[in-house]
Amino acid sequence: MNDPVVIVGASMGGLRTAEALRRNGYLGQINIIGDEIHQPYNRPPLSKEVLSSTVTHSAVRFPHTLTDVNTNWILGTKVVRADPWAHKVFDEFGNEHPYSALVIATGLRPRKLDLENVDVLGVHALRTLDDAIGLRADLVQGAKVVIVGAGFIGCEVASTAIGLGCEVTIVAADAHPMVGALGTEFAAQLQSRHDAHGVNYFLGKGVVEILTKSSVLGPKVASIKLATGESLECDVLVQAIGSHVNTEWLQNSGIDITDGVLTDNAMRVIDAMGNVLPNVFAVGDVARFPNPIFDEIPRRIEHWNIPVETAKRVGQVLAAKFEDSQKHRDVINQEFAPIPSFWSDQFDLKLLAFGNLALADESQFIFGDKNGECVWGYYRNGTMVGVCGIGMRSVVQSYRMNFKSQTKTAQTESK
Ligand code: FAD
Repeated sequence: MNDPVVIVGASMGGLRTAEALRRNGYLGQINIIGDEIHQPYNRPPLSKEVLSSTVTHSAVRFPHTLTDVNTNWILGTKVVRADPWAHKVFDEFGNEHPYSALVIATGLRPRKLDLENVDVLGVHALRTLDDAIGLRADLVQGAKVVIVGAGFIGCEVASTAIGLGCEVTIVAADAHPMVGALGTEFAAQLQSRHDAHGVNYFLGKGVVEILTKSSVLGPKVASIKLATGESLECDVLVQAIGSHVNTEWLQNSGIDITDGVLTDNAMRVIDAMGNVLPNVFAVGDVARFPNPIFDEIPRRIEHWNIPVETAKRVGQVLAAKFEDSQKHRDVINQEFAPIPSFWSDQFDLKLLAFGNLALADESQFIFGDKNGECVWGYYRNGTMVGVCGIGMRSVVQSYRMNFKSQTKTAQTESK
C-alpha cells in the first residue's frame, strides 16, 4: 500500500492520530489536511485565557514532532468530498488525495441563531482561535454583553467577560445553566453562584430578533428582542447555542452521518447499509461510537479527552493493520472503553467531571458542602454513570478510579 494515510481535520484529533500512528510504528506517509491556517492548537483556553490576554497562536499551539518528510501538513484547505470506493478525498482547489486509509477528524462548528443580522458587527460565536481573537477585541470594560446559551461555553465566556469588567446577561431556553449536563439541583446551585458574581439571567426564553445600529464600519448589534417581549441592549452578542457536526463533505459518500460519523468500537466507520469500511476511521467530537462502559448505543462525546483516546485507538488499530493481519484482529477485539471527562473553569469555580452525566435519571449530592466545594453523583437505574465536582479533585478522581469496575459489575448483573 503506497498511498498515504490521509487525515482530514488538523486539530487535536487529527494531530493525536498522526502521533499515535508513529508511536505504533507506522513510518509511511501521512497527509493531514485542515481548513484552518494554523497548526493544531488547544481550544479550551479560547473561552478563558485567550479572551482575557494578548495570547496568540504560539501560546496555545500543541507542541509536536511531526516535522519529518513523511508528514505532510496541508493547511488552509477544505476537503469537499470523499469517495470511499475510489479511496480518495477531494479538496476545494480541485486536488485529489488518494489514500490507503482515511481518518475523519473534522469536529464541530458553532450553531448560529436562525435570525436576520446574525453576521453584523458585534455578533460572535466561538470555536476557533480567530473567533476568540475577534471576540476579545469587543470585550472591553463596560461593554454590555449578551450571551445566548447557558452551556459550558456560554458560562465560561460569561465568567471571562465579567472578569474583564463587562456587564453580562445570559439568555437561554433552559431552566438553569448547564442543566442538561448537571441536572436541576446542581445546576440551580451553580446559577446562584453565577448570580453572586453578577451574571444576569433570562432563562426559559428565546431570542426572536437582533436589532442593529449604524457604525463607521457598518451595521452593528444594538439590542435583541426576546419571545416574551423584553428588549436587551447589547454591544456584544455571543451565540453559544451548541454545534453542528462538520460532515457535509461526506454527503453522498455512503457513510452513515446521522449525528456525526458512525463507527464501531475500533473507530472504523460504518456505511449507511451497516457495513464496516475497514480503511476509514473517525476520531474526536465528530465520531459516534459505542462505549461498552455505558452500553452498546453509539454516542458522540464533545470532551477534550475523547479526541485523545479515540486517536490512540485508531493509531493502534491502523498501525496493526499495516503490520500484520492477526495482530490487527487482536487489536480490534480488545475492548475500547474510554471514560469521558471534562473540566470547566467559571469564576473561582473549578468543575471536574467524568462519565456521561446526560445518561443519568437521578443525581445525588454525595460529598462536601453544597454551597462550597462539593461532589455530585449521577445514576442510571441506580448505577453510577458519572460524577461531577466543584473543587475536590481528589475525591472526584477517587470515584473515577473505581468507575470502570463498578459499571462492569452492574452490566454483568443486569444481563
Ligand atoms: P476540532 O477541534 O473541532 O477540530 C476539527 C478540525 O477540522 C477543525 O480545525 C476544523 O476547522 C477542521 N475541519 C472541519 N471540516 C473540515 C473540512 N471539510 N476540511 C478540512 N478541515 C476541516 N473540552 C473540555 O473537556 N474542557 C474544556 O474546558 C473545554 N473548553 C472548550 C472551549 C472552547 C471554546 C471550545 C470550542 C471547546 C472546548 N472543549 C473543552 C472541547 C474540546 O476542545 C473539543 O472536544 C476538541 O477540540 C475536539 O477536537 P477535534 O479534533 O475532535 O475537533
